[in-house]
Amino acid sequence: MAKVDGAKKRLLAHFLANIGRVMDGDELRPVANNRSEWARRVRELRDEQGYQILSHTDRADLKPGQYVMISPERKEAAERAISKETRARVLEVYGSICYVCGAIAGEPNPANGRATALHMGHIKAKSHGGDDTVSNLRPVCMVCNTGASNITAELPSAKRMIAELRKAPRAEQLEQHPIRWNHLIG
Ligand SMILES: [Zn+2]
Repeated sequence: MAKVDGAKKRLLAHFLANIGRVMDGDELRPVANNRSEWARRVRELRDEQGYQILSHTDRADLKPGQYVMISPERKEAAERAISKETRARVLEVYGSICYVCGAIAGEPNPANGRATALHMGHIKAKSHGGDDTVSNLRPVCMVCNTGASNITAELPSAKRMIAELRKAPRAEQLEQHPIRWNHLIG
């Protein structure tokens, strides 16, 4: 067990020393003493410790087996500070769509085809004094959140939004999608 933890620690140190550089198994496996579960350790660093390590499921330009740490900061700690109630309220206000690109939660993200997961994005960054209140938060997809997308300027087309809206009953269209209507008429 101690050896495994040591492998994870070395992987973390290696990622921290190589922020922003894409690495694959050929490089990372030896760092973990050639232990076969090196990829699992990487996922643990990401999922359990909140390190912002991206893989091909997050970014279209990464191949399976490639990883890149985009920031030394741990994400989960920051997101944990946001209460479930606040999160729910933000989604209520903006709808379950990415505020930046319009990707819909659970549906394939236009940037990489992966299921869209929404994170709480700060309007004013915490490092600049922003807080975790509803008024300072917006739902942002992983692609936009990591700044990996080059298509953020391309908002979802009116056609696409109207097509989405038409699938819903009229009352729901007006009640559930005020933000999308605002996009169209604003
Ligand atoms: Zn987005």
